[in-house]
Amino acid sequence: MHVDTVTEIAQMETQKAPMRVLVTGGTGLVGRAIEQVVQAQGGCGKGEQWIFLSSKDADLRDLAQTRALFEKHRPTHVIHLAAMVGGLFRNMRENLDFWRSNVHINDNVLQTAHEMGVVKVVSCLSTCIFPDKTTYPIDETMIHNGPPHNSNFGYSYAKRMIDVQNRAYFQQHGRRYTAVIPTNVFGPHDNFNIEDGHVLPGLIHKAYIAHKEGSPLQVWGTGTPRRQFIYSLDLARLFVWVLREYNEIDPIILSVGEEEEVSIKEVADSVVEALGFKGQVVFDTSKADGQFKKTASNAKLRRHLPDFTFTPFSQAVKETCDWFVANYDTARK
Ligand code: NAP
Ligand code: GDP
Repeated sequence: MHVDTVTEIAQMETQKAPMRVLVTGGTGLVGRAIEQVVQAQGGCGKGEQWIFLSSKDADLRDLAQTRALFEKHRPTHVIHLAAMVGGLFRNMRENLDFWRSNVHINDNVLQTAHEMGVVKVVSCLSTCIFPDKTTYPIDETMIHNGPPHNSNFGYSYAKRMIDVQNRAYFQQHGRRYTAVIPTNVFGPHDNFNIEDGHVLPGLIHKAYIAHKEGSPLQVWGTGTPRRQFIYSLDLARLFVWVLREYNEIDPIILSVGEEEEVSIKEVADSVVEALGFKGQVVFDTSKADGQFKKTASNAKLRRHLPDFTFTPFSQAVKETCDWFVANYDTARK
């Protein structure tokens, strides 16, 4: 009881203070996009202070390092992005590491935020944690309705527990900690490592090499699975809105509409066009397809933001390809 009272007082005090936002995972694909959007919006000029962190600032799998980091920065708000992240093939290889790293990171960040009186935490789930066997479209109420696809069960269960933990912090302590659920994200500063990364950066990197070597572009799997993609800079604008305006504990899907879903073959076609690749495109059907689709509904987002405009997919792919070519030497790969 006593701890709760002290915490609530601290919460009220920080609510009056200007926002001091700590972004864990601030050097990754999503973190860099949020940084760009906040700078463009003049966020710091609005009396907000934003701190973007990398794993070099603290290994968030470690509780002592996490506490030291929060002691140093004393945030009022947290955008929690830090995670072990990978595409289908890394997930299939390292389910145990995805589970353990992410469970430790998430528990350390959420519990430390609570202990230090952080007013609001926005964490990041993913549509790839949804049940494999389900009806479509999937919405926010269906996260726990059945097991995730077997390829990424470690990552998925670790991420699902954030939602469990958020509800429990609200129930026991009145904390307003929530989460967003983006679809497959891509953009500048992605991880372009072919073995470990997601499909779009993987295909962009492979097409870049195939173009140089005059070899075919290898698309893994049959090309038939379907995905919704969100450009990192669109996601960043939505993330900042959630931090400032969205007050539910229940998560919110941040996605383009169901009609924007594309096949992996269409993704490859977009990359080929954006890079002007003229070679052969082949499908390596010995490689896994993963979950066939995870079609998500953005109806809740549309109720809040009916007029939000997403960057057209082909334009976003072109901008990402251009960024990769221009930054080839320093890009993560
Ligand atoms: P990312 O590019 O791989 O960046 C990961 C970030 O987390 C980096 O800043 C990294 O720091 C940091 N990090 C990793 N391990 C850490 C540790 N042990 N301690 C402290 N920091 C650590 O990932 P992202 O694609 O931006 O993903 C951001 C969030 O979105 C994640 O929660 C992810 O699950 C979620 N998400 C991603 C996608 C997607 O398609 N990419 C889709 C849905 C949801 P360093 O730079 O120092 O390595
Ligand atoms: P997911 O959306 O969580 O399944 O993860 P990915 O972004 O890794 O996408 C996986 C889908 O893209 C599967 O259907 C793969 O077979 C297909 N794919 C085709 N080529 C590639 C590639 O080069 N890298 C990856 N990661 N997936 C690829």
